[in-house]
Amino acid sequence: MSLESMSLESMSLESMSWETMYATRADRMRASEIRELLKLLDQPDIISFAGGIPDPQLFPDEAFRTGFQDALSDGRAGDSLQYSVSEGYPPLRQWIMRQMAAIGVPCAIDNVLITSGSQQALDYLGKLFLSPSDTALVSWPTYLGALQAFNAYEPRYDRLNPAAMNVIPAVYADGAAQAGGRVKFAYLTPDFANPTGETLDLRSRELALALGDELDIALIEDAAYQALRYDGSDEPSLLSLDIARTGDIDRTRTIYCGSFSKTLAPGLRVGWVCAAQPVIRKLVLMKQAADLHSASINQVVIHHVAEHGFEAQILKIRAAYRARRDLMLAALQLHLPAGVTWTRPEGGMFIWLTLPEGVDGAQLLRQATATARVAFVPGRAFHADGSGANTLRLSFSLADETSIALGIERLGRLIADTGAMRG
Ligand code: PMP
Repeated sequence: MSLESMSLESMSLESMSWETMYATRADRMRASEIRELLKLLDQPDIISFAGGIPDPQLFPDEAFRTGFQDALSDGRAGDSLQYSVSEGYPPLRQWIMRQMAAIGVPCAIDNVLITSGSQQALDYLGKLFLSPSDTALVSWPTYLGALQAFNAYEPRYDRLNPAAMNVIPAVYADGAAQAGGRVKFAYLTPDFANPTGETLDLRSRELALALGDELDIALIEDAAYQALRYDGSDEPSLLSLDIARTGDIDRTRTIYCGSFSKTLAPGLRVGWVCAAQPVIRKLVLMKQAADLHSASINQVVIHHVAEHGFEAQILKIRAAYRARRDLMLAALQLHLPAGVTWTRPEGGMFIWLTLPEGVDGAQLLRQATATARVAFVPGRAFHADGSGANTLRLSFSLADETSIALGIERLGRLIADTGAMRG
């Protein structure tokens, strides 16, 4: 049929069958059930512990104002508004080098790449390492955004249990081979993980490195919350332990992903990767292909803010979040019925609850928003195998004192009533 003879009707009324046109990698890109549920949370009388985001009241906004003014002043505006190098703004990379040295990671500027948030680093690392059917080791539960980033590269997941490390490496390797690929990396958030708030002790970190050696795989160290410690003492980062063994960052297998989102502000989307130069060079090529570079002005401004009071900012947010964590833990102790357990994080933004078997977190959220007017994130989405229905995540970073006390009281009553209903 010639184009002229096609009726206008037949050309325009058939809708595109998009689903048949997508690449197979799009199959696993689906909006989660919780996204739908969380849309209901904008109502003012709901107390929400769902969003794992920093409190905007704590942003160093004055430093950002002077930073933007400075970045746009005569003589500087040209650079701030211009294209720049893919590796990132050199003064910011140098600042990061000093920070990394302070946590036991001596490195060169060529070991540091600026990314658009650490989320972009996770996407690039998935792209760099995972062929379809390769295996990624992640904990159950793990950061949902990491699963979303990796899913696009069609991996298989196997369960990493760094606190126990009781799986023999060969079992991972055999499982991966049977699935038609190889184990490529283990992804870990050693400090104050999202969603559990838990921290790996030194022994678990050493076991993770040993597993990396045995399987000869990369270790992705997600350090998004590392600076947010409220008590206890710092554990060495995986990358620093790796350097202590190998003597040189360029001989390590650990890829460290850092972020300014939880310390300064997430809206500028500035994070970084610190790793061996061969990996950084590959990531730079990916960055060129994907977005050329992270926003020039945002890097200039983050550098300004970091130079003018990073330590004071950390002290300020630690004090505020520590107080909220303490309040939430005390309220949980007071109001939650027997049979519910929870983590006691030494930092970060999250407390992880485990409910009795058979209670469904998503179902509970429906009831919670409809009647109790309190919200949280059901835990199943954080599990690569779809387990964890009886778990949920509470975030204490955003709620004020009164809301924490009242919200946890409401949650406790709801869980108690649900338990009573189940008899
Ligand atoms: N890793 C973890 C564990 C996170 O919780 C988040 C954000 N919530 C990120 C990475 C991504 O953060 P960003 O891209 O803002 O650096």
